[in-house]
Amino acid sequence: KVRVSGLHKFFDELHVLRGVDLTVPAGTVTVLVGPSGSGKSTLLRCINELESIDAGRVWIDGELIGMREAPGRDGKPVLHALSDKQRAAQRAKIGMVFQRFNLFPHMTAIQNVMEAPVHVKKTPKAQARGRAAELLERVGLAERMDHYPSQLSGGQQQRVAIARALAMDPELMLFDEPTSALDPELVGEVLAVMKDLARDGMTMVVVTHEMGFAREVGDQLLFMDGGVVVERGAPAEVLDRPTNERTRAFLSSVL
Ligand code: ATP
Ligand code: MG
Repeated sequence: KVRVSGLHKFFDELHVLRGVDLTVPAGTVTVLVGPSGSGKSTLLRCINELESIDAGRVWIDGELIGMREAPGRDGKPVLHALSDKQRAAQRAKIGMVFQRFNLFPHMTAIQNVMEAPVHVKKTPKAQARGRAAELLERVGLAERMDHYPSQLSGGQQQRVAIARALAMDPELMLFDEPTSALDPELVGEVLAVMKDLARDGMTMVVVTHEMGFAREVGDQLLFMDGGVVVERGAPAEVLDRPTNERTRAFLSSVL
């Protein structure tokens, strides 16, 4: 479903991603862990085209992101940049949930969930509302649809954010530390929604330090450090028998 090959990213002089390779098969969950500054968020943002990439390729469903390959004059393939419209169509297939909930504060829960389908996809309002209600019910917020973000707990807001991402019918969901801004007692309800999504077959890439979730829900775990993947494998394998010194040091600091 997702393939990343030889990905490099610079912020000016700073070489943040230094050749990342990653394959996420359809319907699987990949967990990314690593110390602060190792490039986890940047990797997600490159997959989602929120950042441009400096070298390497990213494919979603076999389709290059941001580019199109076509035969050139001499028959060799050349790359063309996609138009803004084509880019937007690609990005619409990817849902993203951030650490901070990023809901529109002046809209109720259901208005937040309906916003993109109505304004981006041009879904008729009544239909978008029905679907938004279903999604809010799915994340356990049937009773809170008409509440404003300020009237919701952090865990509830994050569940609205997940419903909002799902409203665009994404083929891939990216989560960037979705529970790390939450009070500890609210973490479980958000992880439960994510687990339910995974069980339903959603393809997911999750940056998290919740190792219980990684072990239970993850199909593979990647440990990143200094802009490269230094260790990868089945979560239980990596967590119980890390072979890399840096992985070991990191795990002992978070477990
Ligand atoms: P954390 O666990 O703290 O979220 P991370 O692994 O997500 O860390 P990134 O946010 O990807 O790390 O950052 C990787 C490096 O890139 C850091 O050194 C960061 O300061 C730098 N960086 C990230 N975004 C930018 C930007 N827009 N401009 C300049 N430097 C950036
Ligand atoms: Mg980050």
